[in-house]
Amino acid sequence: MTLNITDDHGRLVDYLRVSITDRCNLKCEYCRPPSGGQPSTPCQMLKLKDLLRLVRVFTGLGVKKFRVTGGEPLVRKGALSFIRQVRQTPGVEQVALTTNGVLLAGMAAPLRQAGVGVINISLDSLSPEKYAAITGGDLFHEARAGIDAAMEAGFDAVKINMVVMRGINDDEVEDFARLTMDNKLQVRFIEYMPATPSGWKREKFMTMDQVMERVRTLGVMAPVNKTRWGGPAKIYKLEGAMGEVGFISPVTSHFCASCNRLRLTAGGSLLTCLFSTDRLELEPMLANGASDVQLAQAIAGYAKIKPAVRDMDAYSRDMEKSMIRVGG
Ligand code: SAM
Repeated sequence: MTLNITDDHGRLVDYLRVSITDRCNLKCEYCRPPSGGQPSTPCQMLKLKDLLRLVRVFTGLGVKKFRVTGGEPLVRKGALSFIRQVRQTPGVEQVALTTNGVLLAGMAAPLRQAGVGVINISLDSLSPEKYAAITGGDLFHEARAGIDAAMEAGFDAVKINMVVMRGINDDEVEDFARLTMDNKLQVRFIEYMPATPSGWKREKFMTMDQVMERVRTLGVMAPVNKTRWGGPAKIYKLEGAMGEVGFISPVTSHFCASCNRLRLTAGGSLLTCLFSTDRLELEPMLANGASDVQLAQAIAGYAKIKPAVRDMDAYSRDMEKSMIRVGG
C-alpha cells in the first residue's frame, strides 16, 4: 500500500532531491563552504544500493519525482546505472538530473535512455574566461558540448541554470535570454542565495525583478502555464522564441507555501528544506539494520514537521553549510 506524506501545513510532499555525491569537478565559490568544502571520502557516502533502497522506501510514501544531483552527480561511478534503476522503480513518474554538463557530452544519450526526462545544466557564463573565473575550471567548452549533446538526445526539457551575480555575470543576462530565440531551451535565472554563509557577498546580489527588467528589453514576454512538475520558476516566452525563460527567486519571494520537496544528502541525511539546520540521519538506521517499515515511519514522521517557511537566518549562522554538501 502506498501512503502519502501530507505535512503539518497541508502540503503534499512528493518530490525528493537525491544527492549522490558531495564531490565536484568544479569549484564555484557560491556553492562551497568557506573551509573549501573538503569532500567526503567514498566510505562516508552511502552506497548507491542503499540510496536506491531509500528511493524505494520514498516511493512507498507517495514520492513520485526524483532529482539526482550533487556535488556533481556524473562524477560518481555508477551514476548512470543508479539513475536507470531509480526510473525503473515502481511509482516513479519523473527523474530529473542537475549537472554542470562537463561530463555530459558522452553521457547525454545514455542518460536519456536510462529514463532522465528533464535535465538541468548549470552555466553561469558564455565567456570561457569568465566561466573559468567563476568555476575555477577551464572547462567551458566541455560544458557547452554537454549542452549540445543534451539538445540532441531528446530530453523532455533541457534547462540551463544561470545564477545571476551583479558585477560578475549580470552583463550576460540578455545574451542568455537570447539563447532561447533559436534553441528549444529553458534558460532559468536564479537569485544568488546565501547558501555558503561567509562566502556570500551582498553586493553581488540581484533580485529577479531586476533580472526580469533586463530580459523585458528584448521583447514582449508571454507567461507560460506550468506543467505537472513545473516547480517554482515563473516561466515566460519571448515573442518569436523557440525556448522559454524562467525566473527563480528563492531569496526575494520564497515558494514555501507550495513546496513539495525533501532533500537527501549523499551521506544519508534527510532535510525538509534547503535551509534546514536540523536533519534526520538515515545512515545509522541503515547501519543498525532498520527495516523498510521502520525507515518509512521515521521519514514520514520527520517530513510531517517540514517548516512552514524557510529560515535563512538560522541557516546563515551554520557556517559549514553549502549547496555542494546539501545537494543543489
Ligand atoms: N553540480 C551540479 C550543477 O552544477 O548543476 C549539481 C549541483 S549544484 C549545487 C546545483 C545548482 O545549485 C546549480 O545550478 C548551482 O548553480 C546552484 N547553486 C549552488 N549554489 C548556489 C547559490 N549560492 N545560489 C544559487 N544557486 C546556487
